[in-house]
Amino acid sequence: MNRYSVIEKKNPREIVLLRGSGCKWKKCTYCDYHLDFCKDEEENFLLNSEVLKNVKGFYKKLEVINSGSFTELDKKTLDLIEKICLKKGIETLYFESHYIYKKKSMEVKKYYMEKGITLKIKTGVETFDEEYRERYLHKGFGFVGVKEISEFADEICLLFGIKGQTEESMRKDIETGLENFERVCINIMNKNSTPVLPNRNVIKTFSEKIAPAYENNDRVDILMDNLEFGIGAKVQEVFLK
Ligand code: SF4
Repeated sequence: MNRYSVIEKKNPREIVLLRGSGCKWKKCTYCDYHLDFCKDEEENFLLNSEVLKNVKGFYKKLEVINSGSFTELDKKTLDLIEKICLKKGIETLYFESHYIYKKKSMEVKKYYMEKGITLKIKTGVETFDEEYRERYLHKGFGFVGVKEISEFADEICLLFGIKGQTEESMRKDIETGLENFERVCINIMNKNSTPVLPNRNVIKTFSEKIAPAYENNDRVDILMDNLEFGIGAKVQEVFLK
């Protein structure tokens, strides 16, 4: 599993995939990357410290993801991230967080601000259609709207390529994202070990009718394959052996 990469296009930054104690929610119907976890904090720290050794400070931006939320990283790893940011001159740090950690995320942003580092929170809202998000995707945000989400998150991820989505719904999600957040990361559903399957027609609609309008937009990342940031591994390689 590759856990370090440098993203050169659009908002250039280093990115690390660390390991935490596991997503506390774990109920999103389409997700199996929460399987990348370990309950042993010391083991996680050993792995995470090896990964973090790669950080050079390129572009002064570091994105940290961990198949869950940053709050599920052990204390020693969180301390090390802070130390590395200060040592390598990182000015902008990105953490992922679920809505259930809204309050904590806002506290940690303030903490980093006092250190001179801007912490940006990225959250996987997947869609702003609350019914679809909560009843079909089981996202666990509750029936909260853009306003509540934008109070803690700076960037969002959207998930496209699944049944029920249309050209209109996808366009609306992207435009809502761009109006209310700094950046939007569009993940196209890839086949994984969950029963939620990529829908060929929806993906075709996205690729042909929507993607061309955003391909050159620096505020939009489009991941047709979930390995495009250079981290992670095919689910079959890791969990299904
Ligand atoms: S998508 Fe995120 S919040 Fe949902 S189960 Fe997976 S890791 Fe947890």
